[in-house]
Amino acid sequence: MDVVLKPGREHSLLGRHPWVFSGAIKTVTGQPARGETVNVVSAQGDWLARGAYSPDSQIRVRVWTFEDEPIDAAFFERRFARCLELRKRLALVWPTRAFRLCNAESDGLPGVVIDRYGPWFVGQFLSAGAEANKQAIVDAAQKVLPCSGFYERSDTDARAKEGLDPSTGVLAGKEPPEFVEIDDNGPRLLVDIKRGHKTGAYLDQAANRREVRRLAQMNRGEVLNAFCYTGGFGLHAAAGQAQRIVQLDQSAEALDIARENATLNEYLNDFEYIQSNAFDELRKLRDAGRRFDLVVMDPPKFASGAKQLDNALRAYKDVNLLGAQLCKPGAWLMTYSCSGHMTAELFARTLSAALADAGRDGQVVQHLTQGPDHPVGAHYPEGLYLKGLLLRVE
Ligand code: SAH
Repeated sequence: MDVVLKPGREHSLLGRHPWVFSGAIKTVTGQPARGETVNVVSAQGDWLARGAYSPDSQIRVRVWTFEDEPIDAAFFERRFARCLELRKRLALVWPTRAFRLCNAESDGLPGVVIDRYGPWFVGQFLSAGAEANKQAIVDAAQKVLPCSGFYERSDTDARAKEGLDPSTGVLAGKEPPEFVEIDDNGPRLLVDIKRGHKTGAYLDQAANRREVRRLAQMNRGEVLNAFCYTGGFGLHAAAGQAQRIVQLDQSAEALDIARENATLNEYLNDFEYIQSNAFDELRKLRDAGRRFDLVVMDPPKFASGAKQLDNALRAYKDVNLLGAQLCKPGAWLMTYSCSGHMTAELFARTLSAALADAGRDGQVVQHLTQGPDHPVGAHYPEGLYLKGLLLRVE
């Protein structure tokens, strides 16, 4: 079955961008089912790529390959072997640690996210093509790296756009326990694979958590970890001998795990847990005169689409204004945005405005981003979503 493009619409594919939008398509021969493999052909009849058809999505085809090769078990195995080789070369593959094995489009497998926690795989099948090839994908991943079990966490909004319902459960092997313990490059971390955020943990921040440990070591002071989830950044601050660590999140469940994580690691640092809306609590802390040597701000995605960007910008400015005010003179502010629609430049400008309104000066000393197991495909700039800045706040 062929998807034939309108004249002149082959350019992005020739540049190896993996998406075909519905507006670029002239005709579809045959009636491909959801997720079925189709050829993409130019108006002149030149073969361009092979991808998965998604009848309900604006992104009508997601490209599996630009080579003339069948999309079968061997194809997925080759892809995963390449994924694993990269992570091994980055020294990220250890039996007790966690890493992302496959980062979807950026690893040449659109809609396929696979994370590894110790001996467990956790997968998200986010596109029609990923769903249609689920069994082959699960089998191939295990061939490349055996596991105790493969658990599905396809319970994200992204599925709806592809005409897919949420889906969770065991796809192979055993059911993971309630908590899987991983070594987060030092601190041990309990991960709730079945109910936690994303696939259980924020693996994209792993390298940045290490950076907090380093900064805390130089300082040994007071750390505020806002939007802390299960406490990761705060645990690294504790490992770096920070004196006092405030873990703030609105989720009681997340904070319970954060507490257990501190106990598990037998940290004797002074921990304080605050379950509250950060927008209110940061104001309260400021008005109470609390000040910190390091403030970490890792909020959830405030903009899930271009339409929410204006409101999101206000929210980012608001929390960072408060974050800056909570800094002692010369303190670090480590701040993030994981909204894909927020560009690095826009984020830097938002921080500039936040500092100005806070009446503070500062310097950006580091640009931070998602870790190397979350690579960005050279032809897929959309894969870059995590922007971070480390500022010294005067
Ligand atoms: N830094 C964490 C991940 C943070 S995810 C890590 O490295 O593991 C974002 C967190 O923000 C979630 O735990 C969510 O519960 C919390 N959150 C979302 N909105 C919030 C709000 N308004 N106030 C406080 N916490 C919030």
